[in-house]
Amino acid sequence: MDIRTVGIIGAGTMGNGIAQACAVAGLKAVMVDIDEAAVARGVATVSGSLDRLVKKDKLTAADKDAALARIQGSTRYEDLQSAQLVIEAATENHALKMKILKQVDSLVAPEVILASNTSSISITKLAAATSRADRFIGMHFFNPVPMMALVEIIRGLATSDATHDAVKALAVSLGKSPITVKNAPGFVVNRILVPMINEAFFVLGEGLATAEDIDAGMKLGCNQPIGPLALADMIGLDVCLAVMEVYLAEYGDSKYRPCPLLREMVAAGRLGRKTGRGVYSY
Ligand code: NAD
Repeated sequence: MDIRTVGIIGAGTMGNGIAQACAVAGLKAVMVDIDEAAVARGVATVSGSLDRLVKKDKLTAADKDAALARIQGSTRYEDLQSAQLVIEAATENHALKMKILKQVDSLVAPEVILASNTSSISITKLAAATSRADRFIGMHFFNPVPMMALVEIIRGLATSDATHDAVKALAVSLGKSPITVKNAPGFVVNRILVPMINEAFFVLGEGLATAEDIDAGMKLGCNQPIGPLALADMIGLDVCLAVMEVYLAEYGDSKYRPCPLLREMVAAGRLGRKTGRGVYSY
């Protein structure tokens, strides 16, 4: 299928990043959110991000204007009808996503591919909210979308080869390097990353090394750009804990038990950068 217009539901962190990536690659993007203020914030974020690229000589001012003109912000789901692919990037809430997907499914033509950018909800479950499980797929972009090369493409139980191939080709046309993953909690990257962070809390809790030395060890010994504890502070300790709880429940394997120190810090409200204190103080 020739994808020329991409519909995006949600103009937040991920939605506006996906819209920017599409527009810079020459595609039209229709970005829908619940109210005018949210849409305007999303468009302003893209504009600011493109301005930074112009300042760094990575984009001309004319290309910025052309890219911005390819983004249509809207509060009307009907405007998604011009798209050949609709990517849902709304708030991470299962019931909300099911409701949104049902609504979009009833509005857009049967051949349109629907995708979700969910980090944690089963693609197979979300597909079941629609009448087109074969044309439903996960597209898990990474934050910040314009900078990060990876897209995990997640096949649900019924996702067809044609849908997979079309979405993979689209990701490549956005300049991304997609990997294909079967549907399972955490997909690939977060399945490996979050248990590693959890293990870093065990090492800290057992007093094996200081937080600074644990992070220095992983940076210098594994070439990681940031240590796991500093990364936990960026992601949010509550988010890390919630993800481990999902793995423990879904896989039923005790290797995913959350570290008690992580639990304690979340209980104390030390959630990371967003609360001014996590493993480190800000
Ligand atoms: P966000 O809170 O920044 O944005 C969500 C947007 O969805 C908000 O603007 C909100 O108004 C909008 N929204 C809520 N209900 C809506 C509705 N009914 N219709 C249209 N829009 C609606 O969240 P985010 O960080 O952009 O996350 C979006 C999705 O991407 C989530 O599923 C999240 O798990 C996933 N994700 C996030 C990251 C990340 O690092 N932030 C990375 C990968 C995937």
